[in-house]
Amino acid sequence: MPDLIIRQFPCRSDNYGVLVHEPVNKLTAAIDTPDPAPIRAELAAQGWALTHIFTTHHHGDHTAGHIALKSETGCKIIAPEKEAGKIPDVDVNVSEGSAFDFGGHQVRVIEMPGHTAGHVTYWLPDDGVAFVGDTLFSLGCGRLFEGDGPTMWASLQKLMMLPPETLVYCGHEYSKANAAFALSVEPGNAMLQQRAKEIDELRAKNAATVPFTIAAELSQNPFLRPDSLEIQQHLGMSGHPLATIFTELRRLKNAF
Ligand code: ZN
Ligand code: FE
Repeated sequence: MPDLIIRQFPCRSDNYGVLVHEPVNKLTAAIDTPDPAPIRAELAAQGWALTHIFTTHHHGDHTAGHIALKSETGCKIIAPEKEAGKIPDVDVNVSEGSAFDFGGHQVRVIEMPGHTAGHVTYWLPDDGVAFVGDTLFSLGCGRLFEGDGPTMWASLQKLMMLPPETLVYCGHEYSKANAAFALSVEPGNAMLQQRAKEIDELRAKNAATVPFTIAAELSQNPFLRPDSLEIQQHLGMSGHPLATIFTELRRLKNAF
């Protein structure tokens, strides 16, 4: 089976648009619709017709193009059932454990409450990719708008259990600011220091730091590392429950 073709491109100020193309049946899914114009432009550049929208959560910078793109293309909108009233023109509601076929590629839905109450990740296990919206960022995680720290920590733990080589596509380019915070709480992490340098080099060229692997995040992202002795010592929370340490990291990041 030919591989999926994945195209990522900047949208708005710091969002990413993503198109996933399945070449045999000529299916094309947009992961969220931050802005219809760059999505139309990428579809035209590739010669692809939009057939699906996979919605991660209801925020406007993830659903802004839903109505226009559906009316132009007749595409099918897939969205989390728990946010059904907040996302326009939904065709298919999905929830924890939902699975569907995308031209021979399995798509699995994992609920990830925290950033929003009904946020979902779309995981394609055979393709080794996950579309996580605003749950996990490179060296960061989403703000807690509709969930508390323990809820988000439980969601992130689901991502931590995916195969380490999984390629993660997220909703925003936040890596540079995230790296600065990460270094502030775990300055002795050599892999993190190296990653921060790579991020600086990429951003100096205006290049994307996304996608990234689960493995890299496990070794460098402080929000997946509340068990790090250095982070625990830095926070003065040695031996505290991991969910409590995670919650404190999220609070510190908000104020950073
Ligand atoms: Zn959001
Ligand atoms: Fe967002």
